[in-house]
Amino acid sequence: MKQTNDIIGRLSEQGYRVTPQRVLILSVIEDSNRHISAEEIYAQVTAKYPRVNISTVYRTLELLKRLGLIYEIDLGEGRVRYHSESKGHHHHLVCRKCGAIIDVGESVLFPLQAVLLQAFNFSAELRHMAIFGLCENCRQKNPG
Ligand SMILES: [Zn+2]
Ligand SMILES: [Zn+2]
Repeated sequence: MKQTNDIIGRLSEQGYRVTPQRVLILSVIEDSNRHISAEEIYAQVTAKYPRVNISTVYRTLELLKRLGLIYEIDLGEGRVRYHSESKGHHHHLVCRKCGAIIDVGESVLFPLQAVLLQAFNFSAELRHMAIFGLCENCRQKNPG
């Protein structure tokens, strides 16, 4: 609940109305221990507020994204998923063959950030990346 109070503070600080729907949508994302899609969020929200429609969910997700409270990621399923900023920065290795997802800490991409800065004078914001490839298992079955 501490986190939710934080969020309420941050919304109102920036002049946004703290509606029950906004708080609920954020807490659904906070409470999910995996990445959650807009459709899954919508299903959980309507269990409590049957009148909420999906466009409200999409608009709220846009707002929370702009405020930096949530991050979105495309894991290659043709739709994006969300996770809350409070879960920390990390990246995902996604196997394009079997769909396995391996989580890695953000420090894994620090060398890439350094290279981009040096070679292009470009300061990359690598907060939440999906990197596609083949996992160990699938590599063994498809050597090379
Ligand atoms: Zn993630
Ligand atoms: Zn695989």
